[in-house]
Amino acid sequence: MYEHLNPGPPPLATNAATAKVMRNTRRTGTRPELALRRALHRRGLRFVVDRTPAGTNRRRRVDILLRGARIALFVDGCFWHSCPEHSQLPRANREWWRLKLLGITLRDHDTDAQLAEAGWLVVRVWEHEDPEEAAHRVHDLITERTAQPNDAKGRSAQRSNKMKLRDSDTTRKSLSRTR
Ligand SMILES: [Zn+2]
Repeated sequence: MYEHLNPGPPPLATNAATAKVMRNTRRTGTRPELALRRALHRRGLRFVVDRTPAGTNRRRRVDILLRGARIALFVDGCFWHSCPEHSQLPRANREWWRLKLLGITLRDHDTDAQLAEAGWLVVRVWEHEDPEEAAHRVHDLITERTAQPNDAKGRSAQRSNKMKLRDSDTTRKSLSRTR
């Protein structure tokens, strides 16, 4: 069961780089997200942004919802979501940052579980990924998910969501591996 991990009040940013990261943080509509949205749009895909699907915690917004295929798409910032390639703990206030970033990772996993439970396939894309390649992969997933025969839809969709939950990390890895 998920519990909010509270690292305590934020420390004063002690160096310019950390101050910059904190200042430039937007929750939604970041530049990599806008690039991915444009790439999806060019492929004729329609979606809504910054929404909470029914049946999930209202405080967890999804960056991009492709409602027809029930795909919940996130564009994760490398710093805040601990990208294995680019995330580095700031040197100052290290322990605070470690807890803070761990809390975000746990929250992401909990969000993914809630969405999967409500029938959504969660796809997370790193901000460092090529938006065209990510959009291409999402397009393929949509084709896969909407190709299911109507009569079997309910049960088999549910089953495939459970499968995908287990390899939601794989979805992300295979997205980065295409680079
Ligand atoms: Zn990264």
